[in-house]
Amino acid sequence: MSIEWSAAVSREIEEHGAATYPNECCGALLGSAQGDRRIVRSTLRIENARADAAHHRFLITDQDYLAAEAHATSAGVSLLGFYHSHPDHPARPSQYDLDHAFPWFSYVILAVANGRPGALTSWRLSEDRTEFLPEPTLHPPQSGGA
Ligand SMILES: [Zn+2]
Repeated sequence: MSIEWSAAVSREIEEHGAATYPNECCGALLGSAQGDRRIVRSTLRIENARADAAHHRFLITDQDYLAAEAHATSAGVSLLGFYHSHPDHPARPSQYDLDHAFPWFSYVILAVANGRPGALTSWRLSEDRTEFLPEPTLHPPQSGGA
């Protein structure tokens, strides 16, 4: 399995994470899947539903989920997963993340330290759903220079 995204997609996630710091940001990952290989084409920002604890846990509501699915369908792409930021914490899934994860989806986590975006990692639930497995991340070569 692997997941691929462009520098432009990285930038979208990093800008979102920096803008919401010290709170978490979250959003959806849209693109295409061929077998176990995923390509993220764009992202969709989601308002953080946990306003009372936005600095340490994100929540995607059923409505968010349905809206992301509908957006993907109308754009002719697939909902591949979700991203969120970890303000002043490493880019590794928390127990909360594990407890709220769905099978199949990719979970991308961005570390934001002191407001500056850092590591960007991707994870998938194991078959038995007891742990997250790191998902190898590829970055396609940039076309057109600059
Ligand atoms: Zn998390």
